[in-house]
Amino acid sequence: MKLQPGTTLITNGQLIDGTGAPPVPDAAVVVTDGIITHAGPAREAPPCPGARNLDARGGTILPGLVEAHIHLTYFNVTELQDLDIKYPVEYVTLQSAVNARTALECGYTSARSGGCLHNIDVWMNKAIEEDMIPGPRLSTSGREICGAGGLMDWNPDYRKIGMEGIVFIVNGPDEARSAVRKLVKDGIEWVKTYPTGDAASPDINDHHTLCMTFDEMHAVVATAHNHGLKVTGHCRATEGIKNALRAGYDCIEHGTFMDDECLDLLLKRNVPMCPGLGFELWSVERGRDFGLSQRVIDGHQETLEGGAESCRRVLKAGGTMGLGGDYGFGWTPHGTYAQELTFFVNYVGFSVLDTIRCATLGGARIMGRADELGSLEKGKLADILVVDGDVMKDISILEDRGNLLAVMQGGVVKAGSLVQPASL
Ligand SMILES: [Zn+2]
Repeated sequence: MKLQPGTTLITNGQLIDGTGAPPVPDAAVVVTDGIITHAGPAREAPPCPGARNLDARGGTILPGLVEAHIHLTYFNVTELQDLDIKYPVEYVTLQSAVNARTALECGYTSARSGGCLHNIDVWMNKAIEEDMIPGPRLSTSGREICGAGGLMDWNPDYRKIGMEGIVFIVNGPDEARSAVRKLVKDGIEWVKTYPTGDAASPDINDHHTLCMTFDEMHAVVATAHNHGLKVTGHCRATEGIKNALRAGYDCIEHGTFMDDECLDLLLKRNVPMCPGLGFELWSVERGRDFGLSQRVIDGHQETLEGGAESCRRVLKAGGTMGLGGDYGFGWTPHGTYAQELTFFVNYVGFSVLDTIRCATLGGARIMGRADELGSLEKGKLADILVVDGDVMKDISILEDRGNLLAVMQGGVVKAGSLVQPASL
């Protein structure tokens, strides 16, 4: 991805650097050749003769947001069947490119995938990195892995429809290894698995059931790690979280029902977690309009409460979390990602600074790129959000992309009301 040549000086705003440090009033950020060379009080900024000036209009300067569990290939999903058999791969790819642009326009300069159809992420990533299309820097995933009869094995056998476009259905460690080897060939970064069920499937795979055995999960991790891939999984049930942590997972998605032992295992290796929890509240509040049954809604309510408590415990214990998750359903459309931050402040009870730290540096840690992304510190890539308004006072202003003055990647202004036409 191209860096902006020359020097840019951003002034007239408060700085929230993403590390959790208190905001710096009257700050300046200096960007030289796409890299941050100063982020701090304006009075300490070096002289910048000939610099391009960007006026933050008394607003907030913060790191570009990181969507830590994005599904670029999902859109308007209201039931599981919408995920794999409704559209051909050509149309899903085009829609993914639209979703990637939307994410960037909403201030998300990076994203980690939580799974995709076919091998679309890998090619989206190439197109974004080569500046062919606008989108967040992408940490890719691929087709997912689930045990036979589990949450993702929803097509009845009489339909004679394979699931290979979205998920490998495995029986036993050998088939788990074989699935990972196909993903190795695809060139993905994250192997996404289904250790547990979900409230979405109350009859046979609810949020307290397991969808893979420990042996299958261990085989996935050993094969993936051998080839330098990372492993994560959809983990609701307590036993599934433990299986994942004991098997050597590199991240936990959701981490819903955590007991003390889960927390100990998580902290022992400092495994990051992406709660993706806002989805549960929106399912409870809006699901009925999309035909969710009362049993499914009750399950989401239980998941919401359990998940919120786990998040509070992980935060208090000093664990790492990224924010984002499962936007692309009918009741959580693409473009509404930043409601996750408002939800963490208003419902879960995180402070604004903790929320922003999770939504920036936490996500960068999950991506394994915290040394170059996720906070506004000297030496990092200039992935910066300039917001018209005080985010400390009202985090929900991030939900309206009309409030974004500039969305920068590597110092290039890609979106926001100050965007120069043809700057990409
Ligand atoms: Zn997901």
